[in-house]
Amino acid sequence: EVSEIINYFLKYFTLDYEKILWILRLENENKKEEIYKVADIVTRTLTTDFITLKGIIEFTNYCNKSCNYCGIRVQNNCIKRYRIPEEEILKIAKNGVDMGLTTIILQGGEDEYFSDETLERIIYKIHHEYKTSVSLSIGERSKEAYKRFKEAGASKVLLKHETINKKIFNEIHPDKDYEYRIELLDYLVYLGYITGSGNIIGLPGQTEKDIADDIIFMRDHRIKMIGMGPFISTHNTPLEGYPDGSADLTLNAYAATRLTIPYALMPATTALGTLKRDYQFKALRSGCNVIMVNITPDKYRKNYNIYDEKIKVEFYETAERILEEGLKLSPYTYRRILEAKRNGYSYER
Ligand code: SAM
Ligand code: SF4
Repeated sequence: EVSEIINYFLKYFTLDYEKILWILRLENENKKEEIYKVADIVTRTLTTDFITLKGIIEFTNYCNKSCNYCGIRVQNNCIKRYRIPEEEILKIAKNGVDMGLTTIILQGGEDEYFSDETLERIIYKIHHEYKTSVSLSIGERSKEAYKRFKEAGASKVLLKHETINKKIFNEIHPDKDYEYRIELLDYLVYLGYITGSGNIIGLPGQTEKDIADDIIFMRDHRIKMIGMGPFISTHNTPLEGYPDGSADLTLNAYAATRLTIPYALMPATTALGTLKRDYQFKALRSGCNVIMVNITPDKYRKNYNIYDEKIKVEFYETAERILEEGLKLSPYTYRRILEAKRNGYSYER
């Protein structure tokens, strides 16, 4: 029952496996709303009272990996590949900071064309010259590379474990090593990164028990940012035709995660918004406290098709909607938005 969950949380500041599973399996609408409300109160009390906007730059859609769910996997010849030139990445980042963003996420496929030196230069400039947090979502690189990126100024890394069920992990990742993934995550924590991980919800063969295991895994490995998004079946991939993940289960997972890892940064994902737009905002009242806005120029972004019909989460539109929903933005972001509004949103977009 909901009261048991609350009492357990207040006593231990986390949940156990059985309670996580109970939330994941909740279908009763009233009980779900109660649990979401509790997760929301915990978010506002223990993290921030505002929603953090982070700006994502999808700087390359080249990838040398074959993840079975992903639309930019190396085997997909049906998409147009691009790489954003270094100077342009910097310009996009600067523009994002001027608009009011306080974190820039560099995301891309695993693309060695961007050498460690090049990434180091980009990170250094964004962090030291634009005075902004840099978060990396670039897949697996050597431990040495991640050490250098940290020294250059990156403070966060997002590397999803995707699923802790080894059998499913191996089935969907023909060229990824389960043990190395976990070892690398632990190493990132050791290096002092605010380390992000996460799973895909609704992978073929996955059950709620696997998702409960994912949450426990992240808690026990000191994961501080959590990216959980529903699986979206995508054209020209081996998982084309499999059913999409459930948006309702994703919301339950956000609430369960908030009550298990109370201080986490947890975005309401674009994948969830792609399945059900309103749910992305509902998620901000069910345990999530971050939203990633996409600042990749349209000419590139339209080819970053990691999954079908990916929505564009726009900066100003998202910020306005957050305010309309009665939620708050960070003081810096809010101030910049008010200024932009006064100027008729004349910033380059
Ligand atoms: N290449 C890097 C990596 O894999 O960590 C970063 C980019 S990758 C596109 C970012 C995330 O997209 C992955 O961690 C994966 O969970 C998610 N993703 C890719 N295809 C997806 C799909 N069809 N449905 C849901 N999530 C997907
Ligand atoms: Fe490449 Fe990441 Fe897609 Fe895997 S999920 S194919 S590593 S971009």
